[in-house]
Formats: sequence, structure tokens, C-alpha cells
Amino acid sequence: MKIRGIARDLLQALLESARAMDEEGDGREFVAVLREEDGVIREFLFLPFTSTESSASLRYDLMPLDPHVAGSAHSHPTGALRPSDADLRFFPAIGRYHLILGPPFAETSWRCFTSDGQPFNLEVVE
Ligand SMILES: [Zn+2]
Repeated sequence: MKIRGIARDLLQALLESARAMDEEGDGREFVAVLREEDGVIREFLFLPFTSTESSASLRYDLMPLDPHVAGSAHSHPTGALRPSDADLRFFPAIGRYHLILGPPFAETSWRCFTSDGQPFNLEVVE
């Protein structure tokens, strides 16, 4: 699956959800699964997960068997926009592209990484 970008409105919704979780959830992490259509990430799904200030884990057993799953998005309330060791273990289970969002959850406060933890320049498309 070749991904050429992420839809701007989806990116804004992700940042907003992550900010809300940060403000209302005692700084817990936000996690979502990303879906693509025709190579553009356009949708996210929430899955049940457990999270604390430093980690979040998805219920892999509830992952949809969905060929359009492109990756994941989650927040780092600490603001470190790089994958943790735990992230690098969970990335390959959920597709190839992974967003990490951090405060202040503005349009530039996120990074994309491939499953192996390499930065990926994901284009924002309309
Ligand atoms: Zn993380």
C-alpha cells in the first residue's frame, strides 16, 4: 500500500481529539487506528485501549481485519515527537505509517514515522 498523504480535516480532528484527551484525561495518551482510501489517510477509528501518562496499548484482539488500515496515531503528552521503545514494538502490528502528536496540538505539532521508526515526510492534502 502506497500512502501519498493525509487529509487536512482528518489531521485537524486527530489533533483536536488528542488535545481533548490531554485536557480531560489527566494527560493520558490518545490512540487511534488510521484508514486510507486511494492512498490518502482519511479516517480514524478508536479502539478500546488502556493508557497511562507514559504508555498506551491497543487491544490488538479487537483490531479490525481491514485491508485499508494504514497505521496509527497517538499522542505524547510530554511533547517528545519521537517513538518510544514500546512504540517501535507496537507499530509493525498496525500498518506502516504512524503519527505522534504532541502539545500544543497545533497543525505542526506532529511527526510521521514508518514502522521501523524512520521519520516519514507525510504530505497534508485537501
Ligand atoms: Zn508513544
